[in-house]
Amino acid sequence: MTGSGMAKVIDGKMLAARLRGEIADGVAALKAESGVTPALAVILVGENPASVSYVTAKERACAEAGIASREIRLPASAAEEELLSHIAALNADPAIHGILVQLPLPKGFDEKKVIDAISPEKDVDGFTPVNVGRMLIGERCFLPCTPHGIIKLIEFAGVDVRGRHAVVIGRSNIVGKPVAALLSRKGTDATVTLCHTGTPDVASFTRQADVVVVAAGRPGTLTGDMLKPGAVVIDVGVNRIPDATRPKGFRLVGDADFDSCAAVASAITPVPGGVGPMTITMLLWNTLESARAAALGAGASE
Ligand code: NAP
Repeated sequence: MTGSGMAKVIDGKMLAARLRGEIADGVAALKAESGVTPALAVILVGENPASVSYVTAKERACAEAGIASREIRLPASAAEEELLSHIAALNADPAIHGILVQLPLPKGFDEKKVIDAISPEKDVDGFTPVNVGRMLIGERCFLPCTPHGIIKLIEFAGVDVRGRHAVVIGRSNIVGKPVAALLSRKGTDATVTLCHTGTPDVASFTRQADVVVVAAGRPGTLTGDMLKPGAVVIDVGVNRIPDATRPKGFRLVGDADFDSCAAVASAITPVPGGVGPMTITMLLWNTLESARAAALGAGASE
């Protein structure tokens, strides 16, 4: 990991395409061997445009991999009890291997209660407290998709994090905290520092880092002057920046200032085309694993 003046761009689209090909092969083999077609139920409440497009992308990715998807759409005005009864029915349905509730839920829904209602054996997002706990104590579980995708990207980039210092910026339950836990697991063996808004001088930590994972949700959180030459940057952020030259009136940028970071880093993920494509890929991965476990009559596995 030495500074070369211009970082290698880590191609998340390429890795995602490769893994999705392997998943499609696995789906076909499972169908042939056991007659089981992996199936994902996707529950969308309300009409949030970003959520609608995420759900569409997930369903398309399922279809491409040969995974069946069942969509349940409820209006934002639906009662929480109705949502919970759909989840209960899906928990009990042997034809369904994964259940995903698209977040955020509209105002008035208790997200914690809703996520908690999903059977841990079908929690392919890895968000239920049972799966989070299993991950932390090193038991087999569904790993949360974005953090799992980040670990795969780091491996794909040929970066060996054993004994290296990884700094994670952000401590959310879906990205920062789990990615810090996965990087410091036995076998992965990075030494991890977790930074957040209570960290007085984030740059003093990132300047010591061999790997920086930035998941803050704010453009420009990481700049080149905050990096050690040769560091590896994994940019999780997805931010819309107004841009009149684009048909949609905006463009997507990450949390890292790409140009200044790429000038100092040895490798960096782009936005879009880095972490993003990996998240849905790992969802397909978990759904296939769940279906395999169901076909074997065993529990869920990593
Ligand atoms: P989140 O829940 O808003 O959490 C952001 C975290 O970053 C918080 O812990 C916050 O600290 C910390 N933070 C914010 N600004 C900071 C700063 N200047 N210095 C240090 N820490 C800072 O966000 P999230 O759900 O983790 O998502 C993070 C970003 O990743 C978003 O842009 C999101 O869209 C993107 N994302 C992408 C994918 C993907 O598939 N590509 C998936 C999930 C999320 P406090 O806890 O102290 O407030």
